[in-house]
Amino acid sequence: MKYHVWTEGCQMNVADSQRVASALEALGYVAESEAEQADVIVLNTCVVRQSAEDKAYGRLTSLLPLKRKRPELVINLMGCLVGVRGADALRTKLPMVDVFSPPSEPGPLVRYLLERDGHDLAEAERLQRFAYQDEATTVLNAQTGGYTLPAFERGRAVSAHVPIVYGCSHACTFCIIPLKRGVERSRPVGEVAADVRGLVEQGVREVTLLGQIVDRYGQDIDDGPTLAGLLRAIHDIEGLERIRFLTSHPNWMTDDLLRTVAELPKVCEHIEVPVQAGDDAVLANMKRGYTNGDYRRLVERIRTIIPNVSIGTDIIVGFPGETAEQFEATYTLLADLKIDVAHLARYSTRPGTVAQRRMVDDVPEAEKVRRFQVLEDLQERVVGEINARFVGTRLEVLVEDLHKGKWRGRTRNNKLVFFEAGPTPEAPGHNLRGLTVPVTITQAGAWSMQAERLADR
Ligand code: SF4
Repeated sequence: MKYHVWTEGCQMNVADSQRVASALEALGYVAESEAEQADVIVLNTCVVRQSAEDKAYGRLTSLLPLKRKRPELVINLMGCLVGVRGADALRTKLPMVDVFSPPSEPGPLVRYLLERDGHDLAEAERLQRFAYQDEATTVLNAQTGGYTLPAFERGRAVSAHVPIVYGCSHACTFCIIPLKRGVERSRPVGEVAADVRGLVEQGVREVTLLGQIVDRYGQDIDDGPTLAGLLRAIHDIEGLERIRFLTSHPNWMTDDLLRTVAELPKVCEHIEVPVQAGDDAVLANMKRGYTNGDYRRLVERIRTIIPNVSIGTDIIVGFPGETAEQFEATYTLLADLKIDVAHLARYSTRPGTVAQRRMVDDVPEAEKVRRFQVLEDLQERVVGEINARFVGTRLEVLVEDLHKGKWRGRTRNNKLVFFEAGPTPEAPGHNLRGLTVPVTITQAGAWSMQAERLADR
């Protein structure tokens, strides 16, 4: 029996898709790259912008003829299009879907397939195939307590995402995530540590801890752990080389967390902390909870406490009511702070959000496109200047894979680097995948750098 997973959206969705694949493999399914050849198709969806939602419906519609031809084909719709509350509303609208699964939930599909094939969950657990957590069926390897990477990743994946907080309890007026993923729920430290240990045993060398507001880890648990505490708890796992985390929020970054990043050798000096806009009135309308000045002071604190840190941020252009002057404040903020990477997006009205219910999407699309381009051009200049400073310097690169005959990997600052692979890259002793190697940067652009490998000291 074969399965195919189609994934749209963020790192959390990528991690969720890996867990579904892992669950299906525990049921004896094997991965299939062609959806048309699969017996089970999982569509893991995103609705953070209208374009992503349209893509999900488009993919579903494209499967209709296949479903008509093969009614036994199982179609599982998962992720933010379903959301934590969405299945009933969608059931009548999408009759071709057999199973609806909320985000991060492989359980409904596992239950459906087990029961369809005459098994029951109790028997599955007895067979040591699954372990249950809380009310949700989260598929764990009953031996390690952690989760097993899907076969196509095992031994290949150098980096992996590990969710630590599901959902979000903030209410930014533009954001649909709390409506789709529910309030924040932190995973226990022991469970996260088991995941990380299991991943390292499967060849992973770097983990990225995930949460909508990762710094709020443990806040929903009485006397709960903190992110700084979790970093310390997993730091000494043997074989683990690098730790990253995202996404932060300006209001929850503590000095204790920043000092922990500076102190722990495996925690990489890269911080993803979205600002979203530069104007205080726009930030207030977004209900972000900080000002332009607060954000500037935070960036200064981060750069003071963590030497050589790189910073990433998110920006939305064209939020309802954003004037040209207010947009200038975003431009000036980025130009002044010289941020290493800015993930740019044009405002997209999302159903059910406060902005959709109370504000008018009045910035013309053409103007949103212009503002987006202005910031993209700015960032290309700024990041080009930042990266140029690395030319001639020695950096450590964790090698992820081969790409067009070159090794590809990342520095601790999350910069993408390519270097020559030599004549026989896959030959024993030449295969660098998963190794951290020293290189000299020879060339730098805004989006990646070229390097020469140095002899290991
Ligand atoms: S912090 Fe705001 S933008 Fe981020 S997931 Fe939560 S509600 Fe959305």
